[in-house]
Order: sequence, then C-alpha cells, then structure tokens
Amino acid sequence: MAFSRRLEANTVQKMIAIYCHEMHGTKGNNLCAECLKLFDYSEKRIDKCFYGDDKPVCSKCQVHCYKPEMRDRIKEVMRYSGPKMMFKSPLLSIRYMYRKIFKSNVSSARKSKEN
Ligand SMILES: [Zn+2]
Repeated sequence: MAFSRRLEANTVQKMIAIYCHEMHGTKGNNLCAECLKLFDYSEKRIDKCFYGDDKPVCSKCQVHCYKPEMRDRIKEVMRYSGPKMMFKSPLLSIRYMYRKIFKSNVSSARKSKEN
C-alpha cells in the first residue's frame, strides 16, 4: 500500500511539473509560484492521508482533502498532463486517481454503509 501512495505522490508531482513546464515555461525542478503552491498542497494532502491511520477510506477522505479551488487546479493539471503521463508512464494509474479525487462522491455514499 505504501508503494501506491508514493506512486500517487510522484504522479501528481510529475503532472504538475509537465503542466508548469509547458504552460508556464519553467524548466527542470523549477515551478512557478502558483504551481509550487499546488505541488506543496497536493503533497501535504497525500502525506496526511498516508500517515493518518484514523482516516477513512481514501475515496471518502479525498472529498475533504482537496479544497474546491485546489481541486479545480489539479483537475486542470490532470486534464492537460494526464494523457501525456499515460503515454510516458503507463504504469501510473491516472484514471484511478482521477476517479478517486473527482468522482469520490458517488463511491463514498456506498462506502459509508460498509462502515
Ligand atoms: Zn506553473
């Protein structure tokens, strides 16, 4: 499980980097201020989720993890970088992540009954 979380963090970070490099003209490990904020934010969210044992299932907790503003932004990043990531790193499950973050309302209703 730890591996998939790490993979998830890497995936988000790579997507933000691709987006920033191509949209904002940054290079290497550099990100513009806005993207860096998103980068830090997403990392914290994943870390919190990763280390917080009292957290509910991820599909549920992501609803609270991403503020609407950040959700919109990461959504835009995913829309842009997602297809590129698929091509570059087919092993990274973008679809799973995307569903988890943005379609979690649907599954969380079902999950809450299981708890
Ligand atoms: Zn940027």
